[in-house]
Amino acid sequence: MWKASEHRFSVLGLARTGVAAANWLAMHGMDVLASDPKPAGELPLDRLHPAVKTVPGRNEVREGDVVVISPGIKPHTPAWNLAHEKGSEVLSDIDLFARLCPCPIVAVTGTDGKSTTTALIGELLRGAGNDTFVGGNIGWACMEGLDGLTPQSVAVLEVSCFQLTHCPTFSPAVAVVTNIAEDHVEYHGTFQAYVEAKQMIYANMGPGQRLVVNGDDPEIAKWRLPEGVEVRRFGWQDRFELWADDRAVYVDGRRQHGHDELRLPGRHNVENIMAAVAAVEGRFATPERFLPALRGFAGLEHRMEFVAEIRGVSWYNDSKATNPHAATAVLNAFSDRFWLLAGGYEKGSDFSELGKLVGEKTLGAVLFGVTKHRIADTIPAGHPVHLVENLPQAVQRAFELARPGQRVILAPACASFGEFKDFEHRGHVFKELVRRLAQTRGA
Ligand code: ADP
Repeated sequence: MWKASEHRFSVLGLARTGVAAANWLAMHGMDVLASDPKPAGELPLDRLHPAVKTVPGRNEVREGDVVVISPGIKPHTPAWNLAHEKGSEVLSDIDLFARLCPCPIVAVTGTDGKSTTTALIGELLRGAGNDTFVGGNIGWACMEGLDGLTPQSVAVLEVSCFQLTHCPTFSPAVAVVTNIAEDHVEYHGTFQAYVEAKQMIYANMGPGQRLVVNGDDPEIAKWRLPEGVEVRRFGWQDRFELWADDRAVYVDGRRQHGHDELRLPGRHNVENIMAAVAAVEGRFATPERFLPALRGFAGLEHRMEFVAEIRGVSWYNDSKATNPHAATAVLNAFSDRFWLLAGGYEKGSDFSELGKLVGEKTLGAVLFGVTKHRIADTIPAGHPVHLVENLPQAVQRAFELARPGQRVILAPACASFGEFKDFEHRGHVFKELVRRLAQTRGA
């Protein structure tokens, strides 16, 4: 692979993935220069290996270096151009990891459900007795886990479209695409560019490798999948290798488990379960080995997370619904109507489908943040809509509106920037507001 005598590395961006990549390369004797436009005081310089040469306050790439680029750097910006002009090649940390990794990689991408599916695959593999590393966009940066792996391990990576734009040689043993909907157009420029980034997950795959895709997804249906790859489709039609009806999941024509045996709520999670099972079964474990772990998996924080019951009203946190597609899944998750809390940062999303569904599936919506008027405009006239300034007011208003036996669900359909640091911060604030309500207004 790379030799210290022949290769030098420039790491662009010192967020978590950049720090992990720079440290690994320096620890293994490589000449590494790491830069970031932030001033030194705002960079985690104390977490860098002493051999890493650092350039704070600007982006720098040495002529002919292998460039490891941060997923936060948008295409065709000055930093991106610099990498492509001066670098001998430009890689994301995922491609770097994959070239060095001694074990099979299971990679998960898609618009929604990536983290849930990745975490579940990790649980199924561990439950079946595999030495398993889960990283990428979830948990550890992948380069942090590399040295702990052996040929007998399995690495499960959540891979974002930002990382996939710089994965020229990536070729995982198993790739999963959960679904494709409009998202991150502000990063890629067009929906087509976003789709092309996602397609990089299978671009280099071939015979002996497995590709798991959502069979119902209209965008994926248009894709030309690579020849010779074992394709496993999942969805709601019995022509797929894995399919589900309202009661159970079937694998290759045989009933595998009933939904009522599992703990993950919602129809979209049935899809995530099928995706995870498709990635693992027959390849790394038999159903007998992974089914106990599947039955035990209760989901991740901020995804359809039950928070509290207050005066007979159940409150759920789905702060991770950062786009309309994810929020749509939440709206379809339950058969009874509920109160929706939504709104947030403006990233140019189209809310029209969501608005229609709000009319059909909710008791009403309490909207907050910059996007509240745009969302409100898409909801059918006459449906209850309450506009408030921020999340605390939204929680208060929902508390006044909801009656015993009903649910209130935070599924913002928007990013959290502005009012919050990230979706986790938003979810924590929401849970704290709900807990305070429970304390002061009676559980
Ligand atoms: P990601 O990592 O892709 O953002 P998560 O598992 O964190 O995915 O879920 C993100 C959001 O998307 C959550 O709000 C969840 O309710 C919703 N979601 C989860 N799985 C799906 C799915 N299969 N289809 C549509 N939406 C989903």
